[in-house]
Amino acid sequence: MKTAVVTGGGSGIGRAIAERLDADGHHVAVLDLNPPPDADFAYQADVTDRAQVDIALTAVRERLGPIGVLVNAAGLDGFKRFTDLSFESWQRVIDVNLNGVFHCTQAVLPDMIEAKWGRIVNISSSSAHSGQQYMAHYVAAKSGLNGLTKALALELGPLGITVNAVPPGFIDTPMLRKAAERGLLGDSLDHHIEQTPVRRIGRPEDLAATCAFLVSEEAGYITGQIIGVNGGRNT
Ligand code: NAP
Repeated sequence: MKTAVVTGGGSGIGRAIAERLDADGHHVAVLDLNPPPDADFAYQADVTDRAQVDIALTAVRERLGPIGVLVNAAGLDGFKRFTDLSFESWQRVIDVNLNGVFHCTQAVLPDMIEAKWGRIVNISSSSAHSGQQYMAHYVAAKSGLNGLTKALALELGPLGITVNAVPPGFIDTPMLRKAAERGLLGDSLDHHIEQTPVRRIGRPEDLAATCAFLVSEEAGYITGQIIGVNGGRNT
């Protein structure tokens, strides 16, 4: 079993992934803006701030040893007509969803290179496949994350490190519920469920199960893949 770091592990999908990896026997550390008080190993860090990331990861290594698994789940959405989108909002959404992955990935890689083994999973978004109106900054960032995944898979494969992306679609989390409450999803949740081939909303556990497999030993021949977990939407 490995030391696993889950960013955004304080809520929603990241939290479910952290709980699943813990149940599978990994030593799990959560990095989050607001880490859950009940987690055993939780560290406050803004993934866009390299100094904060480095301090948190040093603490993780001291308590749990070298890092073998990284799940980049921290994310920030945003809804604005492109003509009204401020450059500050554009930058912040790209900073959290893409530059944060740059920082966390680069910061854990020395451990994985040393071990000649590593698993990186990037939680992107089905909107990178379909596009999404009023989310230009978010879609651009998540599309960049899919591209980063493919480039790193080629670069890190020879070093024993796999890199995959899991784009969720329509998962029941605080992020989705807040958007629904503000009427930002275009239609009601019920309408979206009717449009989903498996006829239900996704659960954070659906992502966690996929992630648990991708970080396992037996997933070692899977890299550079974009594996949608979306109930059949955006296929
Ligand atoms: P969530 O419940 O809002 O969880 C996201 C977590 O990331 C929160 O704990 C949040 O902390 C944390 N976070 C945000 N900015 C951060 C930063 N700068 N540094 C560290 N942590 C930060 O959302 P979710 O739905 O579980 O989303 C998880 C991932 O899935 C995200 O990358 C999201 O873009 C992606 N996704 C979700 C869906 C969906 O249907 N739910 C669909 C497509 C993609 P705070 O709460 O304190 O801000």
